[in-house]
This record gives sequence, C-alpha cells and structure tokens, in this order.
Amino acid sequence: MSRRFFLEQVDDAAVVQYYADGFDSLPLEQKILSWHLYQAALAGRDIYYDQRYRYGLEMREVLEEILTHHPAARQASPELPSSSVIGEIRRYAKLFWINSGPYGSMTARKFVLKCTPAELTQAAHDAARHGARFPVRADETIDGLLDRLRGPFFDSDLEAMVTCKTPGQGADILASSANNLYHGITMADISRFDERFGLNSRLVRSGAALVEEVYRVHGRYGAQIAAITSHLRSAVPYASPPMRKALEALIRFYESGEESDRAAYDIAWVEDASSPVDTINGFIETYLDARGVKGAWEGIVYYVNEEKTTGLARLAEMAGWFEARLPIDPQWRREDVVGVTARAIDVIVETGDAGPITAIGINLPNDQFVRERYGSKSVSLANINEAYEKSQPPAYRREFCWSEEEVERGERWGALAGELITAIHEVLGHGSGRVAEHLEGQPQLALKEHYSAIEEARADLVALHFLPEPMIAAIGLVPADAQSEVVQTEYEAYARNAIIQLRRVRVGTTIEEDHMRNRQMIVQWLLANTTAIQVQRRDEKTYYVMADADEFHKGVGRLLREVQRIKSEGDYEGARDLFESYGIHFHPALRDEVVRRVEALNLPSYTGFVQPRLRPITDDTGHILDVRIEYPLDLETQMLEYSGKRLPSGIR
Ligand SMILES: [Zn+2]
Repeated sequence: MSRRFFLEQVDDAAVVQYYADGFDSLPLEQKILSWHLYQAALAGRDIYYDQRYRYGLEMREVLEEILTHHPAARQASPELPSSSVIGEIRRYAKLFWINSGPYGSMTARKFVLKCTPAELTQAAHDAARHGARFPVRADETIDGLLDRLRGPFFDSDLEAMVTCKTPGQGADILASSANNLYHGITMADISRFDERFGLNSRLVRSGAALVEEVYRVHGRYGAQIAAITSHLRSAVPYASPPMRKALEALIRFYESGEESDRAAYDIAWVEDASSPVDTINGFIETYLDARGVKGAWEGIVYYVNEEKTTGLARLAEMAGWFEARLPIDPQWRREDVVGVTARAIDVIVETGDAGPITAIGINLPNDQFVRERYGSKSVSLANINEAYEKSQPPAYRREFCWSEEEVERGERWGALAGELITAIHEVLGHGSGRVAEHLEGQPQLALKEHYSAIEEARADLVALHFLPEPMIAAIGLVPADAQSEVVQTEYEAYARNAIIQLRRVRVGTTIEEDHMRNRQMIVQWLLANTTAIQVQRRDEKTYYVMADADEFHKGVGRLLREVQRIKSEGDYEGARDLFESYGIHFHPALRDEVVRRVEALNLPSYTGFVQPRLRPITDDTGHILDVRIEYPLDLETQMLEYSGKRLPSGIR
C-alpha cells in the first residue's frame, strides 16, 4: 500500500502528513509517557496563537464555529466551489491554522479573507441559526464582534507585520510589530527599564510604569500553563529518573516563572541524555520577538530513531576534534567541548511555535551559559525530513538547476547531503565557539535583532566548511568515493536556494525570517567576494551556478572567521553591516521572476504538517492498556479536533 504524504495545496502552502512508525514498537510505559506529554503539548497550543496576535484566538473561534455549523460546510471541500463564501472561509482558515494566525510564517506579513465583510457576517448568522456560538464579549452582538474584527480579518495594511526587525528610518521595531509580546511599548521605554522576566513575560504599560505580565501558573496564560503542568505530573511516574528530574524542574519553572528555575530546568533537561522518549515544552525560541528576547511557546514530543542516531553519535563524540580545526581565531575556540548529545528523532506531535510548520533540526537550550557549561542536546527530525523528501515535487529542482548534471546530482545525493548538512549544523555548528567574557554569556543582548541570523549563519558555515573534511567519510557518514560529489551537490543546492527562497517573500523587498536572511547573506557574500558562484541567464531565467567548489569552501572559511568574531565580540555594527549589505535586501525584479516561474509550475513554497493522533485504549476503570497511533490525513479534521470541535456528522 502506498502512503499519502502530500495531501493538498492551499495557495502556496503544501499540506503533508508525516508518520511515526517506531511508536508502535515502544514499550507500553513509554507509550503512556508519550500520551501524557502529547496532552501537555496540546494544552499550550492557544498560548502561541495569542502571542502571535491579540485577536488570534477570537478569529480562530469565529472561523471554526462557522465551519462546524454552517449548512454549506457539510459539503466536503473538493465538492464545494472555491468561489463560494464558505469555500473562501475554508481556504483562509486552512492558511490560518497552518500559520497559527493571520500572518505568514515565512513572510511575517498579514494575509486576509477575500470575501466581503457583509458575506462573513451573513455566514456567521447562518451558522448561529444552526447552533454556532461566537466569542462575543459582554453586551456584544455578533455584528459588534465582526465589526471589531473587521480590520484583523480584512485589512492587510493594518498591523501589517507580525515581526518587523527593519521598519525603516526612525520607526520602532516593537511598535512596527503586531505580535502580542508587548503592548504599547517602544525600544526607548525598555532602555530605561529593568527587565526581570526577559524570556517569559509580556511587557505592557500601566500608567507611566512598565509591567511584566509573567507567563506562569497564576500569571498570564495561567489556565493553559496549569493544564500543561497537570499533564506533566501525570507523565512523571512513567519517566526515567533523569527525565523525572527534568519534568519536575519544568513544573517548578512553570509555577514560579523565575529565571533561576528556568536555568535549573535547562540543565536537568540537558543532563537527561538517555531517555528514549523526550519532550520540549516551554517558551523557547525568540524569533517572534523583534528584540530576540521573549520566548514563543512550543510543545514537541518525540522518541529516538536508533538506526539514524548511530552516525550522529559518532559526530558528537568527535566534537572536540572538529572544534580544534575550526577556521576561526583560536581565542574563540572552546577548549573543553562537553556534552553535545546528538540524536535522530521521530516527532509524534509539534504544537505552538513548532507546528504545523516545523524545523528539521533543533539544538537546545538557547541559554549560552548552560551550553558552555553543560552542553546542549541536538536532534534532527528524521521523520519530518522523510516527509519533506517524499512530498517534494520533482519540478522544483529541474526549474532552478543550470544543467542536466546538476539535476541528476541533486536527485542522487540531495537527500543525503541535506541530512548531513543539517546534522553538522546542529551537532557541531550551534555547539561550537565561545564568546568574550564581557558579554556574560549573552551575546544576544549585544547583537539584538541580528543575533539569531548571525547564529544561524555561523552554524550553516560550520556545516559547509566541514562537509568536505575527510574525517566525515572516515567516521562513515558519507562514502569516501562519493564525498566530493556530495559536497558539489550541497554547494549547488545552497547557491540555488538563495534564488528559490525569494518565492516566499511576495510583498516588499526585504527578508525578515532569520534562517532566510542567513542563507541569503552567505550566498550574496560569496557572490561579491569570491568566484565560487556565477550568475547565468538563459531564456529570460536567472540561475545561480556553483562553479568552483574549492573557492566556495575557501570563501566559507573566511566568512566563518568573521561571523564568529562578530558573535564572540558582540559586534552589533559588524552584524548589521553584513546583513544590510548581503542578507536583507533583494531586487524585486528577481523575486518577481522567481514567483512567475514557481506559479507557472504551481509549486508550493512552504509546508504545513498534519500530525499523528494518539488514542489511549482503556479498560472499564480508565486504566490505559495501550496507546494507538493514527494518521488523520486531513488538516481541517485535525485542527478542529485540537480545538475540541468537529465537522457536522457525515463528513469524512
Ligand atoms: Zn540552527
């Protein structure tokens, strides 16, 4: 039986099911552990919707109530003309679910509903007649609610960007960002403010004073956080001793919100290097915040993919050997490389900032002090990689490759090269290097809005630098006789990506997303400073052709040295100049060309994943006998289930 990975395309988003085959073979204890962690991951989902946009949850509720009660929604989507109002609401809702709100995850820009406000109101009234209940405030009518949400649903210029790190001359990065991590606050306010709960609070104004609304039990998001900790408590009895310690520390942090408890949790989590099932649950990544300080909530549950972990473990064991050979100023090398735990994992669920759109590699914790002292855990998401590979339309590669040989190399080695580069990026990249004493382990405070992109650039450069290293073949990660071809394949793909990624930024002429900035910066820097890449034109199409792998490798080494210096010294101007010159701005004509080429082939530009569903089998007393894993194969079904709703009976 052939499996379905690709499910549907919604505008430029692909919807793809991923699978977690190893789950069935886990011992019962670990399945039950997974079940409780899975519920803890779902319990925090709404936090992220609210963090992204203060109207996000109300808007989602409006969409879901219409889709679950409107008579026309009883027709399954393929039979419903997309021109109908319900068809349009469904299209918009799917994008809304994939992006956890009305802002594109890749573009940071708002997308809007394309029916009229009157049509939305009519649909809401039709749904209300069939039992829909809308999130109206006290004394508010449905019309009043939809009037209040008219701007959020229909006006793309109102609060246009969720995160805006480069708003232009004189504009403030916080005031220009629509996310809900701050309210009525500018950078000038913060410079005079002593922030105590940097990662886990919302900063608001109260009269003349600034107030931190701390994310914790009895604080902001208290109800969701209490639900999370209750599921974590249920998980504790099934966890291994080191994991138990980590879960208990996490519960303590969720209760107190204190920085010291967060650090204790990070340390306990890193020290648990052996549990076959693990979780990431908390306020983790800071990309949503233009300042790069506040954490977006995410929940991930995964188990170790033993087969694929063997190769990564070898890389991690050799971390010290590689560190000593980094082409950077020796004073920035770590002398004692400790505890880089690298594993290939299969994810079971990813929520909040981690899903439906997901990374393919994760390296945590982000706390530089904990990383230098205790090390970090690095995972590559094997089943997500597989789902990407199996759902990718072949036309992609063909359209942007300069030669038939490049296409063939990509088909032959692309998957392996991609897996390797991700592994080195995570295992050797993020864990490497040290920063100057005066930064007190917090280079992000000095590098501000450029920190994340500098760190991603550093990890990518480490990976590109070591890919041709003979030791990579010696430890069995790549066949020695194929290594130079794998390097060629990866360098070609990396150069190509700088063009292809422009399809994701359809409005404006700046790149906002940090991984995209870093990749653009590296390729544009190589174009300007080496002969590694050539720009070619054919049939009015542009190609970035990787022409010289040796030059590419040398250039990467030079740039890595500079990027490491910038991070280690906390050189803000250096970082800004690098990204302003090479990483942020692009020519709209080239982007327009790329969008035309992609649209002619109707290719998606990013992917939202449908996740497995866990279902416990219980006896009469509620005792769990087994936990089943199922695959919903439908985004709408899954998203409504997560919200505790379902489509009217008889559908799917
Ligand atoms: Zn990274």
